[in-house]
Amino acid sequence: MYDLIVIGGGPAGTSAAITCARSGGRVLLLERGRFPRHKVCGEFVSAESLELLVSLLDPKHLRLFSDSVRIPRSRVFLDGRRLHTPIDPAAASISRLDLDAALWDSAEHNGVDGRQQTAVQRISGNGPFTVESSIGKFEGRALINASGRWSKLNPGTADASSRKWLGLKGHFSESSPPASVDLYFFDGGYCGVQPVDISDGAERSGRVNACAMVRSDMASTLAEVFVCHPALRERSRGWKPLSDPVSTSPLVFREPQPERDGILMAGDAAGFVDPFVGDGISLALRSGRLAGECLIPFFVGTVSLVEAARYYRATYEQRLTPVFRTSSKIRRMLSLPQGVRIPILRLLEKTPAITRYLVSKTR
Ligand SMILES: Cc1cc2nc3c(=O)[nH]c(=O)nc-3n(C[C@H](O)[C@H](O)[C@H](O)COP(=O)(O)OP(=O)(O)OC[C@H]3O[C@@H](n4cnc5c(N)ncnc54)[C@H](O)[C@@H]3O)c2cc1C
Repeated sequence: MYDLIVIGGGPAGTSAAITCARSGGRVLLLERGRFPRHKVCGEFVSAESLELLVSLLDPKHLRLFSDSVRIPRSRVFLDGRRLHTPIDPAAASISRLDLDAALWDSAEHNGVDGRQQTAVQRISGNGPFTVESSIGKFEGRALINASGRWSKLNPGTADASSRKWLGLKGHFSESSPPASVDLYFFDGGYCGVQPVDISDGAERSGRVNACAMVRSDMASTLAEVFVCHPALRERSRGWKPLSDPVSTSPLVFREPQPERDGILMAGDAAGFVDPFVGDGISLALRSGRLAGECLIPFFVGTVSLVEAARYYRATYEQRLTPVFRTSSKIRRMLSLPQGVRIPILRLLEKTPAITRYLVSKTR
């Protein structure tokens, strides 16, 4: 019997597992994939969670953070305009190839029993829980579901909306890319571009990550995405691919649900935030830690599982749910007809304080 079983070894699952293991809990972490691997993501790690990230990483992985490319500004290319916003403190650009593998390794160094290539198929019970996986059954006093945005374990996420959204990502060569996250918006999607490094020693500079969220009737490859925006078409002309492209679908947005039948939901499994706000990794790390912290009093016997889960839900709704609300308001603003959107953009251009305020509300 484990104290805690965590499903999913991404940022949310590893953050939860490390938090509980450090407090002495016996933790099992199950991941269906295998690290290292590329993942569809803009790889923009917002400053709000960098301290938490550093505290989770084993010291041997700290170079991942200290050597990372810093992103001190964003540029939004929309309706022929270019909106500059400083990012203060600067964000970090960290490849998911390195980040997820380092977090996994750090979890194991903290005593977590980690099993890769182990897909969870079924969950039963309401504390204790039985988890059936591709390698057998496990029992845990508590369960955290951090299986990501789209999983058959999370009812509701499989209802792809009629307008199907795709995520696409690839690394490309570009000499001296600017230290900014550049968001190119067009009808039916957007593509983010930012410099990034990977730690395998190859191409230590001159690498950009291009990551798009696009309606499937607009594009199904990055090459098709690049021609959707004139400035991006021009910029990408000389790019050479440095990684195989990866894709994911569908992308479904919904109100976050941090707890279900006594199971604590963390990261994208709780709720998927609009990728353009660049806060998904941060929310995953923070909700994972919060879920782990809320379970510690249960493990030492001072509260019941029901009380721990209720406290997690309330704290999540207070601290994290507002981020989802602001992000979906901004998404609605960006999808307004051009005639309405342009005056709003002019206002934002003239009053950067409003833009800074909006960005702060997505954190
Ligand atoms: C197009 C796009 C761009 C994005 N850009 C950014 C960005 O720039 N910055 C940012 O902060 N966020 C970004 N995000 C969001 C970010 O990628 C996610 O919010 C983040 O990965 C969530 O972490 P997680 O741990 O919750 O889920 P994940 O990272 O998805 O991890 C979940 C893990 O669970 C595993 N799993 C799933 N099912 C099972 C199962 N049945 N059994 C065992 N394991 C299972 C999966 O293999 C996976 O490894 C972007 C997302 C998209 C789609």
